[in-house]
Amino acid sequence: MAQSARAIVIGGGIGGLAAAAALHAKGWNVTVLERARSLEPVGAAISLAPNALRALDVLGIGEEIRDLAAWQGDGGLRTPRGRWLSRSSAEAAAARFGGPLVLLARATLVDRLAALLPPGAVRIATAGTLTDPGDSRRPARVSVGGQELEAELVVGADGINSRVRAALFPLHPGPVYSGFTTWRVLIPVPGTEFASHETWGRGRIWGTHPLKDGRVYAYAAATTPAGERAPDDEKAELLRRFGDWHEPVPAVLAAARPKDVLRHDVHHIAEPLPAYHAGRVALLGDAAHAMPPTLGQGGNQAVEDAVVLAHHGDDLAAYTAARLPRTTVITRQAVRVARLNMTGSRAAIAVRDLAIAALSKAGPALFLRGFDGIADWRPPYAAQETPTVKR
Ligand SMILES: Cc1cc2nc3c(=O)[nH]c(=O)nc-3n(C[C@H](O)[C@H](O)[C@H](O)COP(=O)(O)OP(=O)(O)OC[C@H]3O[C@@H](n4cnc5c(N)ncnc54)[C@H](O)[C@@H]3O)c2cc1C
Repeated sequence: MAQSARAIVIGGGIGGLAAAAALHAKGWNVTVLERARSLEPVGAAISLAPNALRALDVLGIGEEIRDLAAWQGDGGLRTPRGRWLSRSSAEAAAARFGGPLVLLARATLVDRLAALLPPGAVRIATAGTLTDPGDSRRPARVSVGGQELEAELVVGADGINSRVRAALFPLHPGPVYSGFTTWRVLIPVPGTEFASHETWGRGRIWGTHPLKDGRVYAYAAATTPAGERAPDDEKAELLRRFGDWHEPVPAVLAAARPKDVLRHDVHHIAEPLPAYHAGRVALLGDAAHAMPPTLGQGGNQAVEDAVVLAHHGDDLAAYTAARLPRTTVITRQAVRVARLNMTGSRAAIAVRDLAIAALSKAGPALFLRGFDGIADWRPPYAAQETPTVKR
């Protein structure tokens, strides 16, 4: 290749970094613009299913990530009083999907993705604004602090409130409130082992999962009006809402430091975009298809997007064709699961809990079935394929 084609990635989250790494591996000259002062991710830990891990294999870091992460799946679903509705095992998950579901600190994944990029490729504290999506005859243009950059490809990886998406599809209504808020906390080596579980209550969820390095990741969700915040602090709010749930929830809460508790309202893109590209610009990750976290697939899908985008290169129509139907189905499934596990109706909960217990006696746990058609995805190319970039 005489001169590499230029790609500008707007947004240095998981999706943007994975896209930059995948494009770089295919020979593109990549620049990542990240408006934050560091790449330190928001959010404590992330679960990665075999689909995203296979995409990370393409980038050459799948094995390393599997090694650093804890296997997920041991445990199951419980009621707030502690009764088990359904049990699952990590081995069963790995056997069903040809590899484990894993959990690791977000910062670890971001570090490993960033390390795949050449020095100087990431510009932090640098916001980018798409000024021209370009077309087959002219490059796309991005404005960066008064300077205009040109590129053969621009990737809008700027998250759920994507300005790139709004510029490409100004008539799209954007994200909607999913009806619930979330808390996440990483507990630094608590000194006690907490068993893995997810517990579904009335309009409330709690999950506890140990990481491989000894820390514990806990998350919670509750139906609340958008924008509501604790009058004191969010750990106190968690104690009010979950303090009387079964162990280990109270013990996990006791070990949590108030300053580590993150709270975010959940929004998703309910109306699919008409396409994930326009001109020379591709959208990926939450910018394209933000979904509720109920399947733990938002980041996984962003990583899938990244390797599929790099595979199709500048054939962005092929990228849309490969990604839009799949991510639309998964987003809808995540919304359906959110309705089921966040319901506040006592009657619906009684039916739900009975159905889960009965279904789980009849076959593999619901937890595993929920990943059928998702976790078994395979990337369109393997790591050793020769780079092909058109200008
Ligand atoms: C409670 C909760 C739990 C979750 N758990 C999981 C999970 O276990 N597994 C999973 O796969 N997913 C999970 N998700 C979803 C996952 O966090 C997101 O889908 C994922 O982070 C999306 O990555 P992204 O790179 O598309 O966007 P983001 O992570 O939002 O990154 C966008 C980046 O763009 C930057 N940016 C924005 N505008 C500009 C600009 N103009 N110029 C430069 N930079 C800009 C931002 O600063 C940000 O760094 C969870 C979500 C929540 C809320």
